[in-house]
Amino acid sequence: MGVFHCFLKRIAFLALLLFGISQQNLIAQGVQNPHLNEPCGFAKVIDQLEAQYPGFKSKYDAQTLQLVKSNPIVESRKKRITDTIFYYDTIYTIPVVFHVLYNVANENLNDSLLISQIEVLNRDFNRRNPDTVKTREIFKPRAGSARIQFVLASVDPNGVATNGMIHKPTTRTTFGSNNGQLGDAMKASATAGADPWDPTKYLNIWVCDLSVNNQDNLLGYAFPPFGHPSWTSGSWVADNRQGVVLHYKVVGRNNPRATGAIASANLGRCAIHEVGHFLGLRHIWADDQFNGNKCTLDDYIDDTPLQGIGAGFTCNLGGNTCLEPKNDMPDMFENYMDYSTEACQNIFTKQQVSMMRKSITEYRVDLPIKKDIITKLRIFDTVVYNEILIYPKSNIKKVMVEVKNEDVLDQLEIQFFTMLGQAITEPIAIKKNETLVDTESWSTGAYVARLVRTSDGKVIRKQKLFVE
Ligand SMILES: [Zn+2]
Repeated sequence: MGVFHCFLKRIAFLALLLFGISQQNLIAQGVQNPHLNEPCGFAKVIDQLEAQYPGFKSKYDAQTLQLVKSNPIVESRKKRITDTIFYYDTIYTIPVVFHVLYNVANENLNDSLLISQIEVLNRDFNRRNPDTVKTREIFKPRAGSARIQFVLASVDPNGVATNGMIHKPTTRTTFGSNNGQLGDAMKASATAGADPWDPTKYLNIWVCDLSVNNQDNLLGYAFPPFGHPSWTSGSWVADNRQGVVLHYKVVGRNNPRATGAIASANLGRCAIHEVGHFLGLRHIWADDQFNGNKCTLDDYIDDTPLQGIGAGFTCNLGGNTCLEPKNDMPDMFENYMDYSTEACQNIFTKQQVSMMRKSITEYRVDLPIKKDIITKLRIFDTVVYNEILIYPKSNIKKVMVEVKNEDVLDQLEIQFFTMLGQAITEPIAIKKNETLVDTESWSTGAYVARLVRTSDGKVIRKQKLFVE
């Protein structure tokens, strides 16, 4: 029953061993609940590695801890812990191409399944899934809508019209690999796979058989953006390996091939999880289950509770693997980045949303909509500025400029004028969620704040203020 939802490629040889051992372990003991068994398996892996490569353990821990400390995203994120309300108004539209590789007819998925997968992606990423009601009350305020949508590409890299769903026969009976290594053969024609379309401009999703000896242990995997600071350098791969790989049995909604051990993976949520990785997210338990203290590492996301191990394909909503010193919360098994059953999953948090959107703007900048790739759909790229609050704080003699939509940070300047149009400040760049402007030297009276978009000098807003 060992279902590896995805594969961490932090360390290739580690992955290899994790795969082999957990699989043997589970088969040998006929375990129905891998949750109970994994820690034991992982501990063995670490011991083996330590024996094989003395010093591995401490080096591994040190490397990971160093990453936590030096990660600039973590630093900036920490400052926003108390800011629990984020508004994201730019909708990023990502063109998708499916490469369906089939050796037998059953692997050649019908287009309707692929279309349903796109529907599920759009629904779950934007919190339009009907099961949001199942999110526990304590976590509801943390739920975020990613404002990311997915469309099938309608133009290929050569400018030729397409429906974004490519079906290609292959001579390979499986792309799974019994040595546990992620060979990525599906990503190149030379190895009986399909070459990616420009991976900086399309989200390539390869759909193929990942089974090994008829075991469905690996359901999908994806690599984080190259250079992403939340991941170790061992997880970064070149462009031609970027994208998402999915086992053909778990693609789309109600895929009839999801049966037996993987029957619960029929809601299309393996793709949600993998696209989450593709956009930089890590597992919510931070994969430190094989550390002495499983609660050492966090996932670089503050609004997911500290968690020690993955949910193990259960939905134990009462579980709490780590005691947090303050505001202890149970594990968030509802999270798409956990290993809970798909029916249990229903949430990305606001900060996960923030991380994914930052991954787009910093690491996958050419991915969102380009007119030459999508022609059929209306293009959304709208920024709304009405979530900016400008108000005097007379008690401290300052004016507060509060920006809730962080997409507009670094794009605006504010300047203050008297009612007669005389500037009393220089233009002030808006770089933070909260900017305070000193009014100590201003005489009591009315002033005008003028908000300007720096890219084109357009005045976004003029607002009158009374300053005491
Ligand atoms: Zn994963």
